[in-house]
Amino acid sequence: MLVLKFGGTSVANAGAIRQLISILREKNNPKMLVVVSAMSKVTDLLISLYQKAATHDVTYLELLSQLESKHMEAIEELVPMSQQIDIKGRIKMIFRELEDLCRGIYLLDELSDSTKARVMAYGERLSSAIVSVAFQHHGLPNILVDSRDFIQTDNNYLNAKVNLKATYAFMRDNLPQADLLVAPGFIARSADGKTTVLGRGGSDYTASLYAAALNAELLEIWSDVDGMYTTDPRKAAAAYSIEELSYEEAMELAYFGAKVLYPPTIAPLVAAKIPLVLKNTFNPAHKGTLISANPAPSAQNVKGISCIDHIAVLTISGSGMVGVPGVAMRMFKAVALECINVYFITQSSSEQSITIGLAEAEGEKAAQAITEEFAGDIEQGLLNPVSVETPMSIVAIVGNGMVQQPGIAGKAFSLLGDHNINIRAIAQGATERIISVVLNTNDAHRAVNLLHDRFFLTVPEKSTATLA
Ligand code: ASP
Ligand code: MG
Repeated sequence: MLVLKFGGTSVANAGAIRQLISILREKNNPKMLVVVSAMSKVTDLLISLYQKAATHDVTYLELLSQLESKHMEAIEELVPMSQQIDIKGRIKMIFRELEDLCRGIYLLDELSDSTKARVMAYGERLSSAIVSVAFQHHGLPNILVDSRDFIQTDNNYLNAKVNLKATYAFMRDNLPQADLLVAPGFIARSADGKTTVLGRGGSDYTASLYAAALNAELLEIWSDVDGMYTTDPRKAAAAYSIEELSYEEAMELAYFGAKVLYPPTIAPLVAAKIPLVLKNTFNPAHKGTLISANPAPSAQNVKGISCIDHIAVLTISGSGMVGVPGVAMRMFKAVALECINVYFITQSSSEQSITIGLAEAEGEKAAQAITEEFAGDIEQGLLNPVSVETPMSIVAIVGNGMVQQPGIAGKAFSLLGDHNINIRAIAQGATERIISVVLNTNDAHRAVNLLHDRFFLTVPEKSTATLA
């Protein structure tokens, strides 16, 4: 069994879908399951659709008809004229349903997360129906399934958590027997029967759930870039696609900003040791990046450098913290209660300060929550007012080869120091697989380039970077 996932740009229009068909035809695997994202931009358009309807903006109707034409055009180019009636009828019906739903939002002035998820799910429902029919007409008989019948989640509609046990059982027991299955990514259903979605970018995760349940020999994720890069090619032109990574390295790089992979995708693959390859639909000859339990040994200690911008750095400090238990707990609880995700934590060993990094957009909210939590201590002068620094960036270097390898952090820090780049805070994960530093955003791109030159330019046979 081979599971393949094609992202939004790979199904963006008839031309891309033809390319996908030719990729599939080359495979001679007897059992395949293809997961697709919504056509490129469609999820964003569906979000504006419900936003418009909810704010009494009647132009939602125009948007709806734009979306309908986009899908109809793809059908017209992919399916012979004489056989378009059936699929066009089905797509029309789906659009009438969506129109009713939007009218409901418009009239009722009510927009729950459950309704948002229902609207967002149309993107993958439509793209999978079209891809399945296009396959049919290009010599690839297949069965279309609805992932909502197999993936069970909780009621956190927009970022639903998957019940793995139930999901794997449904997939193993109830998926139809066929040589080729086509399934929508992203969409799922709660135990009480409501449509949910797995979080933005979640189609990768859908594919990895199918791969794990069916014990696939390989999961291929096809997008519009040649795999995972040594760093963001928009920040460092010298970046190139990495040939092999371990699951852990890929996970660190994905969490730290490599947009090619939705971070939760890797976890289901690890237990079953299913390798994952990232490939480019528009450059299929390129090897891409292979992610597995045992990547080929590499001379490189550092495999990738990631950079997240738009970070706010918050610090609490003061003599009143020294030796007092519970300060960190209170700080984290205050931000957690606001559902704010923390990227980065450090505490000075003298316990006089704790610094955290989080999304800049949430900086003010977090500062307020922490200030409220410690209001008494600040008033008594035990703690200083919470400091907020923006715009900051987190730059991280990642690689299994850094484990037990002295000197890498030293090289990185002295390089930055020699170039007058000030490091605001440093963290190394206890796994030693990642070292991250917080810098002013003004310095971050320069730091990425310096580190990239230092750790990668010495490699003799490096592939050339191409970015679609
Ligand atoms: N269509 C969804 C999104 O844009 C899921 C995906 O493409 O993976 O977030
Ligand atoms: Mg994606």
